[in-house]
Amino acid sequence: MSSVEENAKRVIEACAEAAVRSGRSAEDVTLVAASKMNPAENIRRAAAAGIKVFGENRVQEMKEKLAAGAYEGLSLHMIGHLQTNKVKDVVGSCELIHSVDSEKLMGRLSDRALEIGVCQPILLEVNVGGELSKSGVEPAALDELCAKAGDYPGIKVMGLMAIPPVEQNISKTLHYFEIMRKLFIDMSGKKYDNTDIYVLSMGMSADYQEAILAGANMVRVGTAIFGARNYGAGRA
Ligand SMILES: *Cc1c(COP(=O)(O)O)cnc(C)c1O
Repeated sequence: MSSVEENAKRVIEACAEAAVRSGRSAEDVTLVAASKMNPAENIRRAAAAGIKVFGENRVQEMKEKLAAGAYEGLSLHMIGHLQTNKVKDVVGSCELIHSVDSEKLMGRLSDRALEIGVCQPILLEVNVGGELSKSGVEPAALDELCAKAGDYPGIKVMGLMAIPPVEQNISKTLHYFEIMRKLFIDMSGKKYDNTDIYVLSMGMSADYQEAILAGANMVRVGTAIFGARNYGAGRA
């Protein structure tokens, strides 16, 4: 079995290679290690191999690891779906929140940010596959939501995030990446208040190189770094 350190080095190299192949440099792509269900020890090991940004899914788990000092000297993102009642725990603690998909959530994040005197960077999550079971704003409603950011001075919209439908066939995944790339270019050109769109967060363990080649400049990789998550062992 390969170690977290070896895996992390391999994924860092693969990201750099894809960045170069797509005409950019390694620094243009941010690797976010999706560390859900992994103990602080594994975060330290991935960090020792050179990973600087970590993404958590659940607020409670994030709080516990934060309290244990797991992300000391590292950057922390919230990549999971966020409930409005958890907003106070993430604003100011997370450098970037990837999963904002409603005006209501924008409003709560902004209120909290103003309360503690910060500006909270966020991404808008797009439901690119139009799946009923998934969160995210519909592509057709993205422009309107983005324009609303102007009403919320505590937040800043830095870009878009997507979790495309799981497909066996990579060509279907590439189709979703392409939709996102176009949305990203389109939204980057708009000049709404409290928005500065330059992040495109897409691609996970199975397809992060393809995502980078399709224009992603942020990828979220868990399994390829930490190994398979053992959902049977603890909370699902
Ligand atoms: C877990 C997770 C990932 C990483 O998934 P892997 O397939 O393990 O790489 C990426 N993004 C989000 C939002 C996740 O919850």
